Amino acid sequence: MSDCIFCNIVAGQLPCGKVYEDDEVLAFHDIHPFARVHFLIIPKAHIATLADAGPEHERLLGKMLLLAPRLAKEQGLADGFKTLINTGRGGGQEVFHIHIHVFGGGDPVRKT
Ligand code: AMP
Ligand code: ZN
Repeated sequence: MSDCIFCNIVAGQLPCGKVYEDDEVLAFHDIHPFARVHFLIIPKAHIATLADAGPEHERLLGKMLLLAPRLAKEQGLADGFKTLINTGRGGGQEVFHIHIHVFGGGDPVRKT
């Protein structure tokens, strides 16, 4: 087991409610949703935070971002959604494996 929870999910050592998977990216439902639909898009490779990403991650991060509207629509958020990337302790990040929150529907808690 890695000490990174999301690396363990990628490795299949922890379960997740899978929304999407390909060779580079995994998306799964957040375990503590703050909206009717709330899932996370992560790279399979471990990058701790957005501040740790470099030019070599440009294509991967672009791919993750472009997946958001497609997966949001598939999850029933036809009307729109919110995205959030918490970065670093000061940014409220709790899991240090980069992830994009995608959420909406119902009455989402405002996280700005
Ligand atoms: P952040 O504050 O941006 O680091 O958010 C981490 C998110 O990961 C939180 O919304 C947690 O509910 C979520 N989370 C933590 N562990 C798991 C897990 N095992 N499966 C799904 N979501 C998780
Ligand atoms: Zn990781």
